[in-house]
Amino acid sequence: MTSAGRFAPSPSGELHVGNLRTALLAWLFARSTGRRFLVRVEDLDRARAGAEELQLRDLASIGIDWDGDVVRQTERAELHASALRRLAADGLTYECFCTRREIQEAPSAPHAPQGAYPGTCRDLTEAQRERRRAERPAAIRLRAGVSEWAVTDVLHGRYAGLVDDFVLQRNDGVVAYNLAVVVDDAEQGVDQVVRGDDLLPSTPRQAYLAGLLGYRVPEYAHVPLVLNPAGRRLAKRDGAVTLAALASAGVGPERVTELLLASVRLPGSPSAALAAFAPAALPREPWVLDPAELTSRPPHRAELSGLGGSTAV
Ligand SMILES: [Zn+2]
Repeated sequence: MTSAGRFAPSPSGELHVGNLRTALLAWLFARSTGRRFLVRVEDLDRARAGAEELQLRDLASIGIDWDGDVVRQTERAELHASALRRLAADGLTYECFCTRREIQEAPSAPHAPQGAYPGTCRDLTEAQRERRRAERPAAIRLRAGVSEWAVTDVLHGRYAGLVDDFVLQRNDGVVAYNLAVVVDDAEQGVDQVVRGDDLLPSTPRQAYLAGLLGYRVPEYAHVPLVLNPAGRRLAKRDGAVTLAALASAGVGPERVTELLLASVRLPGSPSAALAAFAPAALPREPWVLDPAELTSRPPHRAELSGLGGSTAV
């Protein structure tokens, strides 16, 4: 299968400049390495009517193109179920009946890392499971054989993190994100995962699961997020941060693209940025952005010069 990179937004509303910046970086990583670029809509949880169309329109208007049809996670339930059946057949799953509260209140095993599932349901007898099934539907958890796993990330180097008996299928029957993302990436031929570095802590779980399913672990690049001046992840309430809001304020998509590329020290058009792109030169710190700057400043020559010597086209 041809190798590919991807952008996988949740269709919960319009994308903001933080999402768009991550999308641009994923596109640059994929295209600069000759990969196909896929868009997958992660709609297991939060799909707002019309959001997908808006998001695709916004991606196109900042110069991102993609290959093939846009795929939706909810259309892939059979692939997810099939992966779950393979894990179950290998004895790698078990039913968990814990409520959130029971997990919080359970005494954690000695030396268990913070946030790890305490293993309450791991060794229930069949009689105990029968009884619990009558009380509430079960979630399905992975029977993990390790407590830590290491991945290699293009920007972070070696990163080791927690692997616990994480949930594969929620007790409402919906496949869990960690399983869906691993199956979808592998089945779509995605061998390069570029996304926000808030997802780095869940990456060891996903890489470990990919191995159990016999998939090749993709190359990872977790890119810094955009933060508001208070140091929190940028959100729509922070100001005019969507393309539509910025357009209303007189800042068009080309200008937004220039600003986003300047924030990663690249020249201001997608094609020029692609020619100049080098992962090693990317900033490793978050971009702290006061949204007011997007609308108050006129285009500033100095900001766009000296960016790798390429001329913005
Ligand atoms: Zn449990």
